[in-house]
Amino acid sequence: MKYVTFLIDGMADISIPELNNRTPLEYAYTPNMDKMAANAVYGTFLTLPKGYSTSSDVANMSILGWDLAECLTGRGAIESYGAGIELDDRTVAFRMNLITVKDDVLIDYSAGHISEDEAGELIDFLKQEMDNDQICIRKGVSYRNLLYLQGEEFTEDVDYEKPDSSHGQYWEDLLPCANDPKGVKTAELLVELIYKSMELLEKHPVNLKRIAEGKNPANLIWPWSGGSRPKMPSFNDLYGKKGAVVSAVEVILGLGRLGKMTVIKPEGATGWIDTNYENKAHAGIELLKDHDFVYIHIEAVDECGHLGDLKLKIQAIEDIDRRLIGPFIREYAEKFSDDLRMMILPDHPVPVSIRAHTRDKVPFIISGSNLDPDPNLKAYNEKTALQGKYADLKGRELMDLFFSEKTI
Ligand SMILES: [Zn+2]
Repeated sequence: MKYVTFLIDGMADISIPELNNRTPLEYAYTPNMDKMAANAVYGTFLTLPKGYSTSSDVANMSILGWDLAECLTGRGAIESYGAGIELDDRTVAFRMNLITVKDDVLIDYSAGHISEDEAGELIDFLKQEMDNDQICIRKGVSYRNLLYLQGEEFTEDVDYEKPDSSHGQYWEDLLPCANDPKGVKTAELLVELIYKSMELLEKHPVNLKRIAEGKNPANLIWPWSGGSRPKMPSFNDLYGKKGAVVSAVEVILGLGRLGKMTVIKPEGATGWIDTNYENKAHAGIELLKDHDFVYIHIEAVDECGHLGDLKLKIQAIEDIDRRLIGPFIREYAEKFSDDLRMMILPDHPVPVSIRAHTRDKVPFIISGSNLDPDPNLKAYNEKTALQGKYADLKGRELMDLFFSEKTI
């Protein structure tokens, strides 16, 4: 048996009046998912337990079955591993966004999804001005970058706000602060760097050009979710399966690397709606030749939710169905004779009306071989999943079910 999970980041939503009280997933035209849903078991899974951040690292760790209490570190550390950079014991890595503030308000967590070239130029400039023995800035993908603080005096234990959950708020009310005396030095330095970035970025030619073009300038850095060296069991230790991850974004690639899985970022994978969906499907197929399990993560829908763009969210769901899930299933049938079990789920909701992650449990289906399908359920969405036979799974229960050798 081979196993594939299509992880559609941020897909879950709530009923929308202008869609006749359907959700975007219910409304979207998804013939390939429908085919899977006609022969599937349904259920819900709690990805974001109370007491944890509503971040994608938490959600994807939950899905893959790592114990959050034992394994969770900040997202900066996970993304650093995603970029292939391991941490030593005296380094804390923070995720660092390029963001837009206007009239003292945080208006865009992504600086208008700034292009890689423009972001690269700004990050090179910041690096030249700010890097020293203790501080190291590292270029990532577009607005998603990293900040390393090196020294015994720094810690991940500071309170921070997630920029994609903080739109419309005064940015100076959101600054990192110490939740413990040992976090004071770290919080003070982060605040100092944020203010310094404002001075440096304000008049930079890249930003002047963006403003002239009517785009949001990247006029502030926003470090958040610091993490130190994580300790996690490998995926193979957890399930006895050889696993692989396909994704564009470093947080997911990092989780894969920390779990000693094979990680692939296919050519043209961007984390946005212009991503190369076909290449992702094909990368998944190639990996299954010598792996048991592949986790194909797609970021685009999450970004549409944060933008509050309903039309774009529906389009992204339809593109994933037509350009990734459909081609994957066809190519698998051509190339493999092994049975296949497939799962679809989001890591968390991002309702377009809320534009931020919510903690609601997520809908999943498992389709393919060795199933006793839910007989009355024929379409995959947030509502049908509530009627499925696997309600409220948590922790590693979902992966244990998925990999179960019994009929499920
Ligand atoms: Zn998100």
